[in-house]
Amino acid sequence: MAGVVVMLVLIATIVVTWVALVLAERDMKSIIGDQQYALLSAAAAQVDAQMSAKKVLLASLADSMPADAGLDTARMKVFIDRHPSVRREFLNVHIFNRQGMLINTAGDQTAALELDARVRAYLERVLAAGKPVVTPPFKSLLTGLPAIMILHPVLDAGGRPAMLLGGSIDLTNSSFLEQIAAQKPGKTGFTFIMTTRGTLVHHPNPTRLLENINARPGHNRATEMALQGFEGWTEAANKDGSEGIYSYKRLKSTNWIIGSRFPVDEAFAPMIVMRRHAMLASAAFAAVAGLLAWIAIQVLLRPLGRLRRNISDIRNGVADIGVLQRRRRDEIGELGSAFHELISERESAQQAIRDSEALIAASEKRLRTIADSLPALVAYLDRDLRYGFSNEHFRTMMGVDPQAMLGKTIEEVFGKEFNDSLAEHNQAALRGEHVHYERQGHHQGAPRQVMGDMIPEIAADGSVSGYYLMALDITERKSAELRQAASEKRLKLLTDNLPVLISYLDKERKFQFVNATFQHWFGLDPATLLGRHLMDGIGHDNYYTAEPHLDKAYGGQIATYELKTRIGDSLHTLETTFVPDLAPDGGVAGIYSLTHDTTRLKEIEERLTQLARIDTLTGIANRLMFEEMLQLAMVRAKRNRKPLALAYLDIDRFKEINDTLGHGAGDAVLKEFATRLVDNVRAADTVARLAGDEFIIIFEQVANTAEAGRLAAKIIEGMGAPFEVAGSPRRITTSIGLALYRGDEEALCDLVARADGALYAAKRNGRDGYAIAD
Ligand code: GH3
Ligand code: MG
Repeated sequence: MAGVVVMLVLIATIVVTWVALVLAERDMKSIIGDQQYALLSAAAAQVDAQMSAKKVLLASLADSMPADAGLDTARMKVFIDRHPSVRREFLNVHIFNRQGMLINTAGDQTAALELDARVRAYLERVLAAGKPVVTPPFKSLLTGLPAIMILHPVLDAGGRPAMLLGGSIDLTNSSFLEQIAAQKPGKTGFTFIMTTRGTLVHHPNPTRLLENINARPGHNRATEMALQGFEGWTEAANKDGSEGIYSYKRLKSTNWIIGSRFPVDEAFAPMIVMRRHAMLASAAFAAVAGLLAWIAIQVLLRPLGRLRRNISDIRNGVADIGVLQRRRRDEIGELGSAFHELISERESAQQAIRDSEALIAASEKRLRTIADSLPALVAYLDRDLRYGFSNEHFRTMMGVDPQAMLGKTIEEVFGKEFNDSLAEHNQAALRGEHVHYERQGHHQGAPRQVMGDMIPEIAADGSVSGYYLMALDITERKSAELRQAASEKRLKLLTDNLPVLISYLDKERKFQFVNATFQHWFGLDPATLLGRHLMDGIGHDNYYTAEPHLDKAYGGQIATYELKTRIGDSLHTLETTFVPDLAPDGGVAGIYSLTHDTTRLKEIEERLTQLARIDTLTGIANRLMFEEMLQLAMVRAKRNRKPLALAYLDIDRFKEINDTLGHGAGDAVLKEFATRLVDNVRAADTVARLAGDEFIIIFEQVANTAEAGRLAAKIIEGMGAPFEVAGSPRRITTSIGLALYRGDEEALCDLVARADGALYAAKRNGRDGYAIAD
C-alpha cells in the first residue's frame, strides 16, 4: 500500500508538473515569439527607412544631373564628386545610357564597363519602364562580392527616361545590414534576409549569399510559409531537425523578407532546468508522501496485523479460535468475529466430515470383510468392463490376485475367449437389465458349474454406470441336486410300484404327495388329489374311522389301525400307519401315511397260528397246543368233578437208534410211535409231542389210578409189535409216568412235573413199564 501511495503521489506530481510546464512553455513560447516578431518588425522598419533614404538620395541626384553628363565620364565624375553624400551611401554610382554604357564612378577612375547581353536586356527593360527599382542581388563585376543596386531613371528635356542612375550596395559590408545582424535573438539565434523568390540577401554564413534558401536539400515548414506570404512567428524544425522559433516580416521598400531563428534549446534552456527541478521536487515529495503513507498505514493496519497473526497462530495450532472473538467495535472487530464464525463453522464441518469419513471407512471395511468372506465372486465392473472392485474369492476360485485386477478389463484379466462368452450378459447388464445365468466353466481343468447375477448400477439420470457381479460355484450343489433328483426319481419309481398306498399330509391334512397305488387300487389320479383334504380322498366314513389315529399321529406318535373296505368286488383288510414328520423344533410338520393290504397276510397268519400248534414231524399236537388243551381239560375236570390222567412218555434208549441207524431212522420211529399212540387212545384224548422222544397224553374222565394204569398198559401193549426201522424189524419200548388231577388247586406245570417224576421212576424201575405219581 505504501508503494502504491508513493507511485500515485509520484504520478500525480509528474502529471501536474508536466501540465503546468506545458502551459508555461506555451505561454513562454508565445511571449518569446511575439517579442522576437516585434524586434524583427522594428528591424524591418529600420531597413525600410534606410532603403527609402537611399532611394530619395539617388532620386535627387538624378534630378540634378545634366542630361548630357551621362555620356562623358569626366563630367560624370565631376558631378558625383560634387555630391560626397552619395559616396557615403553607395559603394559605387553607375550610369547606364541608351548606348549601353555603364559608367563606373568608383574611386578615382571612371571607366565604361562591358555588359553581357542578359544584364543589358534587364537594364533596358528598367529604362523603358521609367521607374526606380532595387535589383535582385548579384555578384559585383568590380569587387566580385554580392551586391544590390538601386536604379533610378534620369529624364531628358522632353521628360522621357534617357539614362539610369544606379547606386550599388555591398551586401557583405553594409552598415544597415550590420544593424540587422545585431538584432539576432539569444546567443545561438540569427537573422537573415531573402527575396520573395528565396535568394539569400543577408545571412550569418556569407558563403550562402546569392544562393537560394532551398539550395540546401531538405524541408523547412516555416521557410515555405514565409515564401508564400506568411508574416508573424511560428515553431518549426530546420533541415537538420533542430526545433526553432521562426519570425518573418516583409519589407515595404523592396521584395525582401526579413527573418529570424531562435533555437528552442536555447529559448527553453531555463524551462528545461525548471523541468528537472520540478521532477526532483516531485520525486522528493513522493518519497516523503510515501514515508508518511507507510507510517499511517502501519498505524492504521496494526489491528489487521494482529488479526493476521492470530489467524496464523490458529493455523499453526498455537492459539485457539477464541482469540478472534470480537474485542473492537470497528470493521476489524467485525472481520475478526466473521473469521471466528467462519472457522468454527469450518471446524464443525470438518469434524462432521471426519466422522462421516470414519463411518464410511468402517462400513467399507465391513463390506470388504463381508465380500472377502463370501464363498462367491463379488465384483464391480464399470461401463468399459473394467474391474472397480473384486473380492478375495477371485484368488481362491480363479487363482487371480484381486488387487492386480483393479482397473483392468475382463479381457485383460481372463482373456478374449472368456470375455466373448460373457458378451451377451454384459450387454444386457449395461442396458440396465438384471441378468441371472448359469453356465459351464472350467477351473484347473475340471468342469465347474457357475451361477451368476449381474445387477446394474443405475445413476440418478437413469444411465447405467456399471454393474455388480456375484458368481457362485454351484458344481457341488448342482450334482447334489442331480443326485437328489435321481434319488427322488428312484424313490418315486419304488413307491409307485409298491403295493402300498403312500401319501404325505401337511398340517392341514391335505395331500402333498400321493403314489400311483391310489390309481391302481381306487382309480384315483394322484395329480387330482394333491392339495385336497384327506376326507375328499378317502370319503367320510373312512375318514371318521381314521380320525382318532390321525390325531394321535399329529400329536407326535406313530399310529396304526386296521380297516375293512371294498376294493373292486372283494372286501379287503387294510392296515394304515401314520408316521409323524417331526420338524427340527419338535413340532409335527405333517404325516406320512402308509397303507398296505393285509387281507392275504391275515389268512396266512391264521394258518400259521394253526400250524404253530401241530408238530410238523408227527402231525400230532405240539407243546403249545398241549398246554392249551391241558388248561381247558383241567377247567373241565374241575367243573365236572371228573379227574383227568396225564401220561408222560419217553421212548427207551432212543439215542441208540439215532446213533446206530441215523437221524432219519429216528424220525421214522418217532412218526410210527405217534401213530400207535393215537391208535391206542379215545378220540377225545389228546396226544402231543413235547420234544425229542418225549410224548404226552391227556386222558379225560378217568375214574381212578387203576383205570389210569389200564390205559397205560394198553399203550405199552400197543408198542409190542416190532417197528420197521431202516428195513428191519426192531422192538421199541416206552416208559410212562402217570399223574392224576382231581380238580384241586394245582398249577399246570406242577401237574406236568408230577407226571415227569413218575416217568423218572418208571425209567428207574427198568423201563418198558409205567409208574403212577402218588
Ligand atoms: P432212556 O431210555 O433213558 O430214555 O434213554 P434214551 O436213549 O432214550 O435217552 P433220552 O430219552 O434222553 O434220549 C432222547 C434222544 O432222542 C436224544 C436225541 O438225540 C433224540 N432226539 C430228540 N428229538 C429227535 C428227533 O426229532 N428225531 C430223532 N431221530 N432223534 C431225536
Ligand atoms: Mg428216551
